[in-house]
Amino acid sequence: MLRAASVLKKSMRARISGSPKVIIIGSGIGGLAMGFKLLRAGVRNFEIYEKSDAVGGTWRDNRYPGVACDIPSHLYTFTFFKNPGWTQLNAPGAEIQDYLQRLARRFGLYRHIRFGKEVVRCGYRDCQWQIETRDGEANTADAIVAATGFLHVPVLPDIAGMDTFAGALMHNSRWDPSVRIDGRRVAVIGTGSSGVQLVPAIVDRVRSLSIYQRTPQWLFPLPNEQYPLWQRFKRRLFPWIPGRIFDRYLQEFNTSLGHAVLGDTQKQKFFHDACEQNLATVRDPELRRKLTPDHPVLCKRLVFSAKFYEAVQKNHCELVTDPIASIEERGIRSIDGTLREADVIVVSTGFKTHEYCRSIGIHGEGGVSLDQAWSDGAVSFESAALAGFPNFFMVGGPHTTVGNLSYTTCAEMQASYIVQALRLRAERGARGIVPTEQAQQRFVSDMHAASGKTVWKSGCNSWYLDEHGQLDIWSKSVEDFIAMIEKGPQLPDFRLIR
Ligand code: NAP
Repeated sequence: MLRAASVLKKSMRARISGSPKVIIIGSGIGGLAMGFKLLRAGVRNFEIYEKSDAVGGTWRDNRYPGVACDIPSHLYTFTFFKNPGWTQLNAPGAEIQDYLQRLARRFGLYRHIRFGKEVVRCGYRDCQWQIETRDGEANTADAIVAATGFLHVPVLPDIAGMDTFAGALMHNSRWDPSVRIDGRRVAVIGTGSSGVQLVPAIVDRVRSLSIYQRTPQWLFPLPNEQYPLWQRFKRRLFPWIPGRIFDRYLQEFNTSLGHAVLGDTQKQKFFHDACEQNLATVRDPELRRKLTPDHPVLCKRLVFSAKFYEAVQKNHCELVTDPIASIEERGIRSIDGTLREADVIVVSTGFKTHEYCRSIGIHGEGGVSLDQAWSDGAVSFESAALAGFPNFFMVGGPHTTVGNLSYTTCAEMQASYIVQALRLRAERGARGIVPTEQAQQRFVSDMHAASGKTVWKSGCNSWYLDEHGQLDIWSKSVEDFIAMIEKGPQLPDFRLIR
């Protein structure tokens, strides 16, 4: 049995003395987890800087029709704040957003959050961080935690003529509810998790739907189960039930998906067969051929959908696989010369996932910028710290377990690690703590060596790989990740600054 919940429970006992001042950047899942962990560790002297006007991060930004958690919501839940009230297996985005807002209220995090504060520069000097915001405010902190995530900077495709389109064009994460789609001609570019969620949600509302697919994806048919009222009532009455459900899903996901991505061929076959059966529901052989991927299942982030194939087979739907040549005033022209007219274009072309917190000008020892430190690719030490950047930490930075563990659990674990690092710093009477170059090199080499065996490096292009073709997510097992968090930061791997 995976020991995630017990390790996290044990970590709650850690206390940080000396009341360091901490500034957290971002109030999404990572920032809220970090705030909660600091409070539990007895640190009240912290602020969360949020550029927007609400908590929730990706769940605040993504409001497109059909947006939902595509793994079981009981797994996509913090261990310290269970939610007996999830209405369905895959809760809609608005329900997750509501959960995160309730969490912030329940634990008194709002009084620490400063909305409308976009951090534009963080400079390190003598164990202190100077923070500047876009509106010209300056502040100092003993430590900073970048909890900016990796799914927050939308990628807009570089297609000729995009600005000439006469209709409405938007990225799915910037959905504009004032744009009417009912009864209109809509085009969706991109068939990743977002595009595949969007299509079935709008197909019956639009006059025509053109879906532009560049690479076919494997689709795992996870049917969404509605939880009846009595079940939710029972889960409220017996608060240990959601914890049990969490443990069960964690175990099941790890022994299936978690093991498959690391090379277990039996488990891969299970996912392949399920996806193939799903694909077999496409009746037209030509359409089925167009939808058939040529890469191994799980090489790209698995897309979960039991509805996309049904939607794409509707008469007013067209799957376009000819590459896009240009966008024109009236619609999208494919490379074969066909112009498909559209009133609305939704680009579901993903995010700059290797950006992390680069856009904030973060400068560590000697004024070295993050871009310089990451010129060969983004790295971290033990998924949370960075050599050359004392008292700087990340939740959701490089080597995060995005491919095989629920992000809520991952963020909670990383926040626990950071609390332990701050405690180590305080216990040793140091003003600064930073991983050594050697320790980081060893960790990164270990990650890269392990990545070769994963399915993510089996020959497809995905957002898990950076521009050097390097995997910068966690490439070992979930058991290894939990063991690393349980062990916590070890003194020989760090340089203490007094
Ligand atoms: P994505 O997985 O990166 O998919 C982007 C899609 O756009 C791909 O089909 C890609 O094709 C296509 N594309 C990119 N540039 C293009 C171009 N210039 N022309 C044509 N097509 C182009 O992005 P996403 O769908 O937003 O999903 C990102 C991640 O968000 C997911 O993997 C998942 O982790 C997360 N997510 C989670 C949920 C949830 O429920 N928890 C929901 C949605 C998203 P190629 O494959 O050829 O690159």
